[in-house]
Amino acid sequence: MARTPTIGGNWKMNLDFDEAMELASGLRNRLGSHRGAESIIFPSFPYLRPVSQRLRDSAIAVGAQDLHTEASGAFTSGVTGTMIRSVGCTHVLIGHSERRTVFGDDDALVAKKLSVALTAGLIPVLCIGETLSEKEANQTFSVLARQLDTALRAHTPEALSTLICAYEPVWAIGTGLTATPEQAQEVHAWVRSHVRGLLGPTFAEQLRIQYGGSVKPANAAGLMSQPDIDGALVGGASLKAESFAEIVRAAR
Ligand code: PEP
Repeated sequence: MARTPTIGGNWKMNLDFDEAMELASGLRNRLGSHRGAESIIFPSFPYLRPVSQRLRDSAIAVGAQDLHTEASGAFTSGVTGTMIRSVGCTHVLIGHSERRTVFGDDDALVAKKLSVALTAGLIPVLCIGETLSEKEANQTFSVLARQLDTALRAHTPEALSTLICAYEPVWAIGTGLTATPEQAQEVHAWVRSHVRGLLGPTFAEQLRIQYGGSVKPANAAGLMSQPDIDGALVGGASLKAESFAEIVRAAR
């Protein structure tokens, strides 16, 4: 089955307002009518609405970097899935490694966030990945199995039909170290086969699995030419319109 490659740009906690709007305009000029890979950008919360408006009727979708698990109430600083939808977003990152390691989101909280994202009608991008010490202890597959099982086991394939998964080895994020295409392919094939066991062959075959970790124009094509790598989740290289556009164009 042909899976449409999907490239995400995670702006993290970067850019002031003017820079964010300039980047959105630069992306619109380069990718606004691009019909190859799908592109989604994840700006900071204050920029979601103006960026969505600037990208309205373009081929670029907008998502949030996180969401709160409660629907409303006394949760100072929390942002709900409904709020995110109401400012023009279609996607949300769930369980990004910086949420897990810096903010302490554990597997149970990530699973809850996935559930509320689905309830809000957002397309979840579920991030999974092992740390360097877990990799060195040969725990990559047991860590990924735990992360996938906790997040996915409560759901039917139908409920998860929009899910995008991002495999991001934590040791490769923001470090300049990238898994080789062969290393990444081995893990992606393992993820797909594990998901097959959880949710069945049809679901696993259509699931898009992005690779993330220091993806840039120079390494994007090699990674995305692998059979189980269906796009990329990009941090640093998504902060320049031309480098993000080059990565999107590299996806065939
Ligand atoms: C990310 O933020 O998900 C990421 C992969 O960052 P970078 O591309 O900078 O490694």
